[in-house]
Amino acid sequence: MKEPNELLGYWTCPQGGRAEVFQTKKRGNHFYTRCKCCGLNQGTGAERQQRIYDEAQFKPEVTFKVPSNVKPESDSEVHEVREVKALESDFDPTAEPEVSEPEPARPIISGGAKTGLALLAFSAAVGVAAWMN
Ligand SMILES: [Zn+2]
Repeated sequence: MKEPNELLGYWTCPQGGRAEVFQTKKRGNHFYTRCKCCGLNQGTGAERQQRIYDEAQFKPEVTFKVPSNVKPESDSEVHEVREVKALESDFDPTAEPEVSEPEPARPIISGGAKTGLALLAFSAAVGVAAWMN
């Protein structure tokens, strides 16, 4: 049986095997792999295709097309951007709390100050009384 597609390189498959990487000439230009542990795997899922693209050791002399569902930039970069965006949206629940904070804070502060003064006066009185006895 003739091998119609060129061996592009090698990829460590999910089972830890050394998979040969080929590329289909069909629409989508998806990678497919072949290894002893998994056999022929022609899965065209974007995650799998991206992993092969990012992780495979491609032979320097071969040329291949980027599969239709693979982003040419590094996969980790894409994930980082997504994570930062998610965090930003989590920590930015509108400016509402900042606006409403000063008003209820004022009576608490003055009340606390009064209590503090009263306590201070009380302890001073107690101290004076103790000193006087
Ligand atoms: Zn395998």
